[in-house]
Amino acid sequence: MNSMNVVGLAGDVVTVDASALEALKASMRGPLLLPDDDGYETARTVWNAMIDRKPALVARCSGVADIRQAVVFAREHRLLTAVKGGGHNIAGNAVCNGGLLIDLSAMRGVTVDPIASVAHVGPGATLGDFDHECQAFGLATPVGINSTTGVAGLTLGGGFGWLSRKHGMTVDNLIAADVIVADGRLLRASEKDHPDLFWAIRGGSGNFGVVSRFEFKLHPVGPQVLTGMVVYSLKEAASVLKQFREYVKKLGDDTNVWTVMRKAPPLPFLPPQVHGTEIVAFCVFHAGDPDEGRRAIEPVRHFGTALGEFIGMQPYVAWQQTFDALLTPGARNYWKSHNFVDLSDGAIDVAVKYVQHLPSPHCEIFFGLIGGATTRRKPDAMAYSHRDAIYVCNVHGRWETAAEDQRCIEWARGFFRDAAPHATGGVYVNFLTDDEPERIPAAYGPGYARLVAAKNKYDPTNLFRMNQNVRPA
Ligand SMILES: Cc1cc2nc3c(=O)[nH]c(=O)nc-3n(C[C@H](O)[C@H](O)[C@H](O)COP(=O)(O)OP(=O)(O)OC[C@H]3O[C@@H](n4cnc5c(N)ncnc54)[C@H](O)[C@@H]3O)c2cc1C
Repeated sequence: MNSMNVVGLAGDVVTVDASALEALKASMRGPLLLPDDDGYETARTVWNAMIDRKPALVARCSGVADIRQAVVFAREHRLLTAVKGGGHNIAGNAVCNGGLLIDLSAMRGVTVDPIASVAHVGPGATLGDFDHECQAFGLATPVGINSTTGVAGLTLGGGFGWLSRKHGMTVDNLIAADVIVADGRLLRASEKDHPDLFWAIRGGSGNFGVVSRFEFKLHPVGPQVLTGMVVYSLKEAASVLKQFREYVKKLGDDTNVWTVMRKAPPLPFLPPQVHGTEIVAFCVFHAGDPDEGRRAIEPVRHFGTALGEFIGMQPYVAWQQTFDALLTPGARNYWKSHNFVDLSDGAIDVAVKYVQHLPSPHCEIFFGLIGGATTRRKPDAMAYSHRDAIYVCNVHGRWETAAEDQRCIEWARGFFRDAAPHATGGVYVNFLTDDEPERIPAAYGPGYARLVAAKNKYDPTNLFRMNQNVRPA
């Protein structure tokens, strides 16, 4: 190995000599990859094709020992450092240009203790890995709706999905985590151990260290659950959405219904003439007794004249993969997000207007329903603070070619701007792009000063800055 120039923490150039690189390589069980090595391209590639960053070197970690070596090396040489879990972050924070990438994506182990209803999860595990292992015992905890998303990044930002109304945010189910902080120590964070660190990592993103293991509380779920979709024409949108918002106010925690507005994909239960037209889809999920679920879901079928529907029992793991085909990696993506406590007439009007002018057939606006158990923790119980949010809205700008960039980004920004007066002002940190640093305080909310205190204590030099960054004071 030759000496090499690596981007430093201050944006400077740090020359790392050959012997230091050789020593790092020899100290790791996983490979240390340079740009010409096999595996480098895969390691640097993330879900959003808008992100094209080239780290100088990649520490592809096989275990905790490798992570510690990489963190100590980064700190000693003051290198710009990125940490990659599932690589789904829309802002592309999992990868940096010219610095060191600590790639955890090989560490996908999930171990379930079905007697204690607890799972131990590696930092490279995807939601699919997690659900697969837990569902072998009919267990689950709330995670997101796309099975290839990483457990790590999702959890550190808060995490929500179909089970959140019943069992809360992903972080509400975190019992403990092992965190390798900037000085290389491995600290157990829990209510008892380093509680300030535990408070901070439950919503404060990757700001405080590299989490090498998550420990989650699990709940009986499925394995068969009642799920489905009811689809209406966009022409009925205002009426069906107003009925939806009233329906939500009386909805039990077992049931969840998300609404997605987009062009209809060629779903087999929709007549061919509907494919490619603008629709409002209600995606329904019931975590409890199926008969009760059918009763709870029934009103959704009568908001208007449905263009098509399917409702039936299916394995929870299959439902967790239902939307994967619409969310494959490799497309160009730009998102904007708002939290809402209610869907005002104004918010509905704005959404309908923007769906009438979709700039690409892959673009969509969704309102993910949370509420229920997610609202029953105090806003200061942990860093994730949006306990008022009932809907997390995301405008998914998604398209195929660079030529469409400007049109699609402007569309997403337009929706965001026009919807803002109807929203809470809060935003889910995991949906922030890399061009909205001014929204970071709103994303972290009233506990921001507490996050800064934790940052000062655990990462005073801001080694972990490739995230929605909390700067040390
Ligand atoms: C298609 C799609 C669907 C989604 N659906 C949902 C959803 O339903 N619900 C939801 O809550 N979110 C959802 N998200 C958002 C998701 O929570 C974020 O994208 C999250 O950052 C993904 O985590 P990751 O590990 O894949 O990401 P990465 O890009 O690998 O990491 C994200 C951030 O976390 C840091 N990080 C990663 N691992 C660690 C670690 N072990 N220790 C310290 N820092 C770490 C990274 O440095 C980076 O800053 C979705 C995203 C996508 C792309």
